[in-house]
Amino acid sequence: MPELPEVETVRRRLEPHLTGRRFERVDIFDPRLTRPHDPAEVAAELTGERVEQVDRRGKYLVFRFESGRVLLIHLRMTGNVLYTDEEANGDDSHRRSVIRLDNGADVVYRDVRRFGTWLLLEPGELDPYLATRIGDEPLGRRFTVAALAARLAGRRAPVKAALLDQRTLAGLGNIYVDEALWRARIHPLRPAREVTADELSALRRGIRQALQAGIRRQGATLRDYRQPDGTRGRMQAEFKVYGRTGAPCDRCGAPIEKTRVAGRGTWYCPACQRP
Ligand SMILES: [Zn+2]
Repeated sequence: MPELPEVETVRRRLEPHLTGRRFERVDIFDPRLTRPHDPAEVAAELTGERVEQVDRRGKYLVFRFESGRVLLIHLRMTGNVLYTDEEANGDDSHRRSVIRLDNGADVVYRDVRRFGTWLLLEPGELDPYLATRIGDEPLGRRFTVAALAARLAGRRAPVKAALLDQRTLAGLGNIYVDEALWRARIHPLRPAREVTADELSALRRGIRQALQAGIRRQGATLRDYRQPDGTRGRMQAEFKVYGRTGAPCDRCGAPIEKTRVAGRGTWYCPACQRP
């Protein structure tokens, strides 16, 4: 599932192509994409909109239009936003929508599992919509050690579960939480409220470094994630713990172990990340 580094990579690749472009024609083939709204109505509303900015909040891709409206895209499990200079043709049963731009290029939304969502918001609706759903940006200025401490304080849940909660921080998922906890040398099952002041500082740094590493390598392609030009990310070759059961820890050589936290496969170094 795409996390912050994957969505940020998509954003960076799309922005130069989309900024200033007008949606000349929009086709939405899958009613699940815009549910409960009628796909034909959403497509009609989007037609004619001009892109002012391609933004991101957490795992959401945000197309901001000059009109003040916003298209909020969540890729969920397997969503991909692809860009092609030419008309997108060929038979692709996983294609859920095509946006024709005013320069003849196509933006194709593809989604095998069909959990992705598109939501068209009117001016002023974005901030209240996101406020109840996601917390601060981990790469933003507001993400301080004090802010992280406040988010984890009093929480009995394992620190990993707390970090997977999008209201704690926006954009972390199963991969980058494991990577961040390894960097911070914190066991994933440690209750969030027992993380010490020193560890909080290491955790903040670990989160930022893990995410930045992911962005530098254009995200991680385990299965479906692709950049807008169809190429894979490279972060999967750089994981410190994720998916590396039995492989030696980069720091101490101990074999990486797998457990389950909050129902999710979880990897950690038993020597560096003691309970
Ligand atoms: Zn280790």
